[in-house]
Amino acid sequence: MAFDIEMIKKVYSQVADRVNAARKVTGKPLTLAEKILYSHLWDGKAETAFVRGKDYVDFAPDRIACQDATAQMALLQFMQAGKNKVAVPTTVHCDHLIQAKVGADKDLQSALNTSSEVFNFLESVSNKYGIGFWKPGAGIIHQVVLENYAFPGGMMIGTDSHTVNAGGLGMVAIGVGGADAVDVMAGMPWELKFPKLIGVRLTGKLSGWTAPKDVILKVAEILTVKGGTGAIVEYFGPGATAMSCTGKGTICNMGAEIGATTSTFGYDESMERYLRATDRAEVADAANAVKEHLTGDAEVYTNPEQYFDQVIDINLSELGPLLNGPFTPDLSTEVGATMTEKAKANDWPIVVEWGLIGSCTNSSYEDLSRASSIAQQAIDKGLKMKAELGINPGSEQVRFTAERDGLLDIFEKLDAKIFTNACGPCIGQWARYSDPKNAPKNSIVHSFNRNFAKRADGNPNTHAFVASPELTAAIAVAGRLDFNPITDKLINEEGQEVMFDEPTGWELPPKGFQVEDAGYLAPVEDGSKVEVVVDPNSERLELLTPFEPIGDEIKGAKLLIKAFGKCTTDHISMAGPWLRYRGHLDNISNNCLIGAVNAYNKKTNFVKNQLNGEYDGVPNVQRVYKAEGVPTIVVGDHNYGEGSSREHAAMEPRHLGVVAVIVKSFARIHETNLKKQGMLGLTFDNENDYDLIQEDDTFNFLDLDQFAPNKQLTLEIVHTDGSKDTIKLNHTYNDSQIEWFKEGSALNLIKKQNA
Ligand code: SF4
Repeated sequence: MAFDIEMIKKVYSQVADRVNAARKVTGKPLTLAEKILYSHLWDGKAETAFVRGKDYVDFAPDRIACQDATAQMALLQFMQAGKNKVAVPTTVHCDHLIQAKVGADKDLQSALNTSSEVFNFLESVSNKYGIGFWKPGAGIIHQVVLENYAFPGGMMIGTDSHTVNAGGLGMVAIGVGGADAVDVMAGMPWELKFPKLIGVRLTGKLSGWTAPKDVILKVAEILTVKGGTGAIVEYFGPGATAMSCTGKGTICNMGAEIGATTSTFGYDESMERYLRATDRAEVADAANAVKEHLTGDAEVYTNPEQYFDQVIDINLSELGPLLNGPFTPDLSTEVGATMTEKAKANDWPIVVEWGLIGSCTNSSYEDLSRASSIAQQAIDKGLKMKAELGINPGSEQVRFTAERDGLLDIFEKLDAKIFTNACGPCIGQWARYSDPKNAPKNSIVHSFNRNFAKRADGNPNTHAFVASPELTAAIAVAGRLDFNPITDKLINEEGQEVMFDEPTGWELPPKGFQVEDAGYLAPVEDGSKVEVVVDPNSERLELLTPFEPIGDEIKGAKLLIKAFGKCTTDHISMAGPWLRYRGHLDNISNNCLIGAVNAYNKKTNFVKNQLNGEYDGVPNVQRVYKAEGVPTIVVGDHNYGEGSSREHAAMEPRHLGVVAVIVKSFARIHETNLKKQGMLGLTFDNENDYDLIQEDDTFNFLDLDQFAPNKQLTLEIVHTDGSKDTIKLNHTYNDSQIEWFKEGSALNLIKKQNA
């Protein structure tokens, strides 16, 4: 599907030189992660060693991938950049907007009926700007990327947190916000804090019921959901090389659940086999020619404690199957007796109602084949399913091959529902209930990555447990959370006691992969004639209008909201039903800050309109200020904007007329997003000044005309009694970021430079 072999060869032609330069400046052998990072520096060869966890570095990623929910705003922004084509190979994948309800064909048709406007938009923008387009039903972004685009030693970014899946093929692949992706599409560098390094040494060998999924479930237990923050996790050791490439993908995929920047594995024979099986012998040959640069230096893996910030040891021969959950992916329980006790103590429903196999984490051919071996045993041993079973194949290539090889037929004999090759229940696109909020308490087991409350079916009472596909299948047959397939017997339809044998499967399809229509649309060579049509009356899509510069005269600003306590990107721009408006800035702005707690009344979405003294929702009040031409500021506490990298959280206040966000501290990505949208993101020099701000205050920026790097700004606060406070504000804008502010946004500047 048009993987870019010339680009890959270029990366490989430079790798030796760049890795050697990095060894020289660091004065030490290198991990794989360092080799990839240093060989993708924006400025070329390394001239200095970077401090992990401290230095911000500009990188030049090789590829970009976007999924349909995030691609809308990313592409709407890119359309403003004034470019004819994306600067690096990019693909768009339609996978999030497809609901799982009755089965693949009908569900896909219903998604086309509901969201064709969005799909058509994404298709036409892709065609116009040289972006590869994967149609609805083609598969889940990360499985499709692994099958077609990932390559050892490469660096990619994607507008989805599970972009990290491509680490299974030896990449450094990182999830980013749309605004970051747009920069790279427009030919600009991508900035990242040089990550810390966590090494995971895998010894022993997986066998029996233990799967790659159990490795990451164990790592999640050890590191917890925050333990990987700011770090790249690098797996090595004999246990790593003995594992399949898609198994490695599973492990890297769930690195997102420990907060890791990304995870990766060194190039090995499993990757070579996968590349050849997926019709990329050319990539395998090219990788073989430079393979010593596509894995960590031997010395690093012999003495990992010396070269990684943290080292974890896992002996795969001693690892057993795990169930993680409910409600968090790091709560690990061994199958069987321990689960019986834990479920009782915590009042988790022991009866399992659904087993779901799929998601970008576990939907490879190997996953389906191992799960189907359990399903086949259930048929052969006369067992009846106690829970329902649902399957989302990861791609049309996997689905077609699995159907050809009879795997899907096995599941269907057990009345399993084969859903579309898409995210489906993994992202709440599962029409399980008509009224999910009031649905009953229950347990489900799935092979996905995330199991937060309401994630799969919108029901806060669903207890979701994460497991390998084979264990999910076995538990769905048994219908009990505490079923241990290694020791427990089941009673079949004839009243006989039977046991499962160990699962079996194929790493790769013995007869090779096959597909008739993979669902890929290549862009035309010259997209200048392609028209992108957006209905001006659409409620889901809206072309963006460039932001006007805020200017250096901000006087008489009012306070929109002083946020109390935690204010994440979810509080600033909620997800859930608002996902529908991700491509329509004005409509989605109706959720602007509706989750933030007003410091003066501790209520959400209830702030004072200073122009008439009345209280109303945040977006409503802000729209009045906007209509009256009154600038406003938002004030916040620590780590304002933590959570996701979604740029909507910066674009919405900007669109509605907020000029500055002043907080005790920022989550860095949100701070950058504010800068990119041409706003002021500032921090109190004295944290206690947060307390000075009163609900009715008026604000004057006294020296914004002297806005410069490393120079504080001064804010005058005028209280209603006429008294004044003058405070100092800090900022982290560099020269070019100040240019973004002056031009109205980073995009405006790119456009100007292009012109
Ligand atoms: Fe995200 Fe789930 Fe889709 Fe993977 S399958 S991309 S985790 S929604």
